[in-house]
Amino acid sequence: MKIVQYPHPSLRHKAKDLTAIDDTLRHHAREMLELMYEHKGLGLAAPQVALPYRLLVMNFAGDPEKKEQECIAINPVIIERKGGMVESSEGCLSFPGLYQNVRRHKTVIVRAYDLDGKLYEMTASDLPARIWQHEVDHLDGVLYIDKMGIVGKMSARGALKEFEDIYHKAQERGEIAANEEIERMLKELEEKA
Ligand SMILES: [Zn+2]
Repeated sequence: MKIVQYPHPSLRHKAKDLTAIDDTLRHHAREMLELMYEHKGLGLAAPQVALPYRLLVMNFAGDPEKKEQECIAINPVIIERKGGMVESSEGCLSFPGLYQNVRRHKTVIVRAYDLDGKLYEMTASDLPARIWQHEVDHLDGVLYIDKMGIVGKMSARGALKEFEDIYHKAQERGEIAANEEIERMLKELEEKA
């Protein structure tokens, strides 16, 4: 398992609801957590590791020692957004090094299943709320570059072009599969959800 970078098609692919919690899923969640910590992230969504499933892992402190800050979400839904909008700098493990301001709701109420299949509800504000919104967006193929303001979008343009060039060169060298092949693999994985 590895983190895919923009413009990998998995990042734009709408993820599918999970219908069962089994050992494979538990294994995926554990591997995702390890990857997230390795790359010093606060959250990671399954589409970022080319799995088209509605699964997120997060640690609101970004600290592997703080297990109480760790959160796994299966089929998460934001059921309420409130408290107005707050603008703050945001990054993404699929866009290493690119930080821009993004406006997010200050508070969200979310509902998700944990790895034991238990439904839980959580009210999150500020940074945890930002992480939830960023990660749930990933499940719908929505990226933080879509939510940047005009100035942010303009200053991100060079970096995005660079990500695209690197990606296409890797594809030409055969290090990354062709987009049609990736789409076919995603469909195959979806059927296992
Ligand atoms: Zn992200």
